[in-house]
Amino acid sequence: MRLVVTGGAGFVGSHAVDRLVGDGHEVHVLDNLSTGKREHVNAAAHLHVCDLRSPRLAEVLAAARPEAIVHAAAQASVARSVADPVHDASVNVLGTIGLLEACRVVGVTRVVYVSTGGAAYGDTHVLPTPEDHPLRPASPYGVSKLAAERWLDCWADLIGGTALTLRLANVYGPRQDPAGEAGVVAIFAWRLLTGSPCVVNGDGEQTRDYVYVGDVAEALAHAVAAPAVVGAINIATGVATSVNALYEKLAACAGVARPPQHGPPRPGEQRRSLLDPARAKARLQWTATTPLDEGLAHTLEWFRKEVGR
Ligand code: NAD
Repeated sequence: MRLVVTGGAGFVGSHAVDRLVGDGHEVHVLDNLSTGKREHVNAAAHLHVCDLRSPRLAEVLAAARPEAIVHAAAQASVARSVADPVHDASVNVLGTIGLLEACRVVGVTRVVYVSTGGAAYGDTHVLPTPEDHPLRPASPYGVSKLAAERWLDCWADLIGGTALTLRLANVYGPRQDPAGEAGVVAIFAWRLLTGSPCVVNGDGEQTRDYVYVGDVAEALAHAVAAPAVVGAINIATGVATSVNALYEKLAACAGVARPPQHGPPRPGEQRRSLLDPARAKARLQWTATTPLDEGLAHTLEWFRKEVGR
């Protein structure tokens, strides 16, 4: 298939591109390189440096003539969304609408949207959280990702297209930015390997569902290969891990004996996030297969090379 992957120079997007290229697809990457990196784009993919909100977008899509789009480009930082909600909405909401409008003009009818689970469901006692749980985002980022999901469904109804939303859990793995605030695995890995202190916010007993980026890329490949599957699907392990346990595993793997420091709890931080992956198994025949220890080892191995550069 001919595919466009927006955000294909970013963390999640670049792994999806590697996987899709490996499956034999012709892949076009659309990315403005704001957080993405040219060097992460697979050499066999065609990179189009373009903003989602650019008037050139339809032209780029018309030239690539994709049969489907994987939409992973986003302003992906919760902290930045709080600091600058207008920018967040501009990229995540208006950028998505611009992309859907360009799809309509060019005649693309299949979009797989990369959304978020934890930030969309918000704090809840229904764990693991299924897709039909009420959505109660607690940050501008969660709201903008959810708004884009709604736009996608509306677009699909209007043009007779098919829209699939994958709601990702907390993704970790090689290429995640250790300077960002989102990826605690990347932050700890980098700090452990460079001898810097690791700070756990609050008591460290907050839990997350950590899914390896290679498994997410596999889920996206399944989504592309199943054009009739629509709706929202969690992409997660269904396994909860506390930040304390995560630190212990990473420190042991990095050969570091020192304990983490504890800082004040982050105001408004979600206590528990755990997604129900049953629908992904039923509809996409996908389950996460990388055990946390193995994924953390791959991640540390990659960061070791980065630190040595
Ligand atoms: P990332 O910042 O590495 O990737 C985002 C990519 O989008 C970057 O390559 C960036 O350059 C590009 N981009 C940003 N604004 C753009 C614009 N206006 N026009 C064109 N390109 C633009 O972040 P990521 O973690 O890889 O996130 C990818 C997707 O996965 C996002 O949609 C995010 O909401 C979603 N997601 C990520 C996680 C996670 O744990 N990393 C969890 C849930 C959902």
